[in-house]
Amino acid sequence: MERNWLKGAKSAYDVVVIGSGLAGMTAANLLAKLGHSVLLAEHHYNMGGLATWFKRKGGHILDISLHGFPSGMIKTFRKYWTQEMADSIIRLDGIRFDNPQFQLTTTFDKTDFTNILIEHFGIVKEVIDDFFVTARDMNFYDELKMTTRELFEKFFPGRKDVWRFLMEPITYANGSTLDDPALSYGIVFSNFMDKGVFTYQGGTDDLIKKMKKELIKNGVDIRTHCLVEKIHTEGKKVTGVKINGKDIQTQSVLSNSNILNTVHNLVGDENFNPEFIKEVEKVRLNDSSCQVYIGIKKGERIDNVGDLLFTSVADEYNTEKILDKQVTSRTFSFYYPEMRPGLNRFSIVSSTNARFKDWADLSEDQYKIEKENLIQSTLDALEKYVPNVREKVDYLEAATPKTFERYTLSPTGTSFGTKFEGLKISRELPTQINGLFHSGSVGIIMSGWLGAANYGVIVANEVDKFMRSVSDEPKKTVSVSASV
Ligand SMILES: Cc1cc2nc3c(=O)[nH]c(=O)nc-3n(C[C@H](O)[C@H](O)[C@H](O)COP(=O)(O)OP(=O)(O)OC[C@H]3O[C@@H](n4cnc5c(N)ncnc54)[C@H](O)[C@@H]3O)c2cc1C
Repeated sequence: MERNWLKGAKSAYDVVVIGSGLAGMTAANLLAKLGHSVLLAEHHYNMGGLATWFKRKGGHILDISLHGFPSGMIKTFRKYWTQEMADSIIRLDGIRFDNPQFQLTTTFDKTDFTNILIEHFGIVKEVIDDFFVTARDMNFYDELKMTTRELFEKFFPGRKDVWRFLMEPITYANGSTLDDPALSYGIVFSNFMDKGVFTYQGGTDDLIKKMKKELIKNGVDIRTHCLVEKIHTEGKKVTGVKINGKDIQTQSVLSNSNILNTVHNLVGDENFNPEFIKEVEKVRLNDSSCQVYIGIKKGERIDNVGDLLFTSVADEYNTEKILDKQVTSRTFSFYYPEMRPGLNRFSIVSSTNARFKDWADLSEDQYKIEKENLIQSTLDALEKYVPNVREKVDYLEAATPKTFERYTLSPTGTSFGTKFEGLKISRELPTQINGLFHSGSVGIIMSGWLGAANYGVIVANEVDKFMRSVSDEPKKTVSVSASV
């Protein structure tokens, strides 16, 4: 008999959060702390969304999206999770570039970037300072006048090597291109330049375990294996959700499911204003990823070759080439024993940006062949940095955009939600349907660990206000502020 994953669940909650990505979990935690009854429904058996990991025979633990995030994550963990989580964040010092235009290692912060731009690229200090000020001053409410290409043209005309240095890591970090709004570049780039790149010591498994404990402590009813099939509405108001075939009442839903999935499938176009749906139809999804997970044998070691290695054999920065199935650019994340103290294990994850359509329609056999090709060409590329790597490895696996689609239910397996226009749609949901909210990767700036978690805080605050407006029960207060 099929297990009832909703056994013991209540018939009604103040808020139902759909999805346990970083945005969904952060929002659920805050809403529970504010005194609301919260149901967190996740279709997968594991929590975390893209912030996840898997274990394999031989003691391998492989992280999916724990490559690096800005220092702002420390404050977010401290304020909205726990001090212990904040204390586990450590800095990565070895960020390496290797491509035909330059080879260098950086700590990826403003001081080091300024020195490199002066000494390696010969840029005048005043221009660099002006560039940093311009990028830093961009914010979410600015008008979208300029593209990143225009920003670079203005400060570094014709300097494609400098563009690559400034842009390539950000393209890997959030899928943005030279033709996206400059502010989506400026915000994310400045977040990193503040203090560099950070990671979570202990690994994603440790983090999500601690988040789960905290959610339970604060009273969130967590239900995995629970697919939200429908958000019910009546007269432009949320009335409930259908989960694994069962109806549950609620006046408020915060969906961490992809914004297009939320509108088209969970609510249904017919429940929105037709003008709004026209806008939704213009929203472009961001691209997806491929990854190769490389488990190093127990007892085997690799030398320190940097923490994050941006490699490319392409002549210059080119988004089409970065996305091409004929891979020219890869980011290698190296996990040394310090990552999970006590285990003394090494692993490597290679990530490439990718298009869903290149993988979607392959036959089963061809799909297997192409995954194997991806693994082998990745090992070939890695040989340059880890000689004889094949002898050191005893576990290999590949993920494609189809894998990401299957696990997160995000259309086309998008790694970073939508392009910029998705943010407006996400923000406007409650004006269309009372009690309907969305949080999670949209608009480039609300993606990544920091963007998603902070967007969770922002929207939880709005859900709280809404719930207070429709209920007479007194609620707690918690100071809430977050920015991306
Ligand atoms: C390969 C890769 C590498 C990355 N590397 C980094 C990095 O180094 N640093 C960084 O900051 N960011 C990185 N990211 C991005 C980062 O992981 C994501 O932006 C962030 O985790 C997204 O969080 P989210 O809250 O938007 O939701 P998601 O992680 O997308 O989670 C959404 C959740 O909702 C669930 N769900 C969806 N629909 C339903 C439904 N109907 N019913 C129930 N559950 C549902 C899904 O199963 C999922 O658990 C990377 C992403 C990828 C793909």
